[in-house]
Amino acid sequence: MTCGTGVLSPRRATGAAGGALRSRRPTAAGREEPLPYPLDRPRRLRETPVLRDLLRETRLSPDDLMYPIFVVPGKGVKRPIASLAGQHHLSPDAAAELARGFRADGGRALILFGLPDRKDETGSPGADPDGPVQRAIREIKSAVPDLLVATDVCLCEYTSHGHCGVLAPDGRVLNDPTLELLARQALSHAEAGADMVAPSDMMDGRVQAIRKALDSAGFERVPVMSYSVKYASAFYGPFREAAQSAPSSGDRRGYQMDPGNIREAAREAELDLAEGADILMVKPAGPYLDVLREIRLLTGRPLAAYQVSGEFAMLRAAGDAGLLDYRAAALESLLGIKRAGADLILTYLAPEYLRWRRQ
Ligand SMILES: [Zn+2]
Repeated sequence: MTCGTGVLSPRRATGAAGGALRSRRPTAAGREEPLPYPLDRPRRLRETPVLRDLLRETRLSPDDLMYPIFVVPGKGVKRPIASLAGQHHLSPDAAAELARGFRADGGRALILFGLPDRKDETGSPGADPDGPVQRAIREIKSAVPDLLVATDVCLCEYTSHGHCGVLAPDGRVLNDPTLELLARQALSHAEAGADMVAPSDMMDGRVQAIRKALDSAGFERVPVMSYSVKYASAFYGPFREAAQSAPSSGDRRGYQMDPGNIREAAREAELDLAEGADILMVKPAGPYLDVLREIRLLTGRPLAAYQVSGEFAMLRAAGDAGLLDYRAAALESLLGIKRAGADLILTYLAPEYLRWRRQ
């Protein structure tokens, strides 16, 4: 009891106007009915920096971010990627060097993409135990054991035609014959010491095929992060140059999702969970925040979002042109992705974020 009013519930308040006692009743949606102005003034809680800091609902931390890097064969290679400002093609030793610095800055996780020196029709170089990804995993894990190393699993970087699966003579991407090749590549990453594998091909049944292959080889502890909801997006442009993985003919709309679909996103997520995915992913992130939210509400499983190369490039270009404050906009873009429901964000901004935190 307080003030002799008999009010116990914090939902009841003494109103200023006319001394009326108003009750905030929960609505059907579980929200409280708002008190009208001037009884309620949301700005009260925005007045000072300390109030804003105390009451912020969503915060970023280094634990939220996974940094995508591109590894190439060779030694001592650190070549700038023209389409992705500040990013490089790195040989395994240079990747280990970057990993050391990233971890020292507070980074927690990398995801590796590979550019091999040879490609073939079936993408078999992707499973080469001496391929750039497998070498980089070994070098990074021995240099920085407590940094999580995930790997992208797909054929497009390793096929001569640049598609994410093997092709029929008429150019169609064949689903089932691709599964074994993906499983073989994922297994080679686990054997090299990867902490997590992340299939990005969008073939049906690939999570199950990879899970089976890992389990039967004793890697039941290696989680599968599935690119469950991956759209056929125009925002991948800069990445394709970085990964040299653009298809030589046709496009990827036969396996990646149509940007207009969200019910299909829920179906993809449910299927991947049924196949044994440990983490789901939505890609791209920024233009698909509603999809992220939908999957967040659908499942309690961990959810990742990939802020793709085109999203990053737009921020950089607008910042470089002086059209917006790059740092503020970059941080806001990450916060928005987390607020929409992502537990983990794959982003090229990760090293800059760590640097900005220290300043
Ligand atoms: Zn691919």
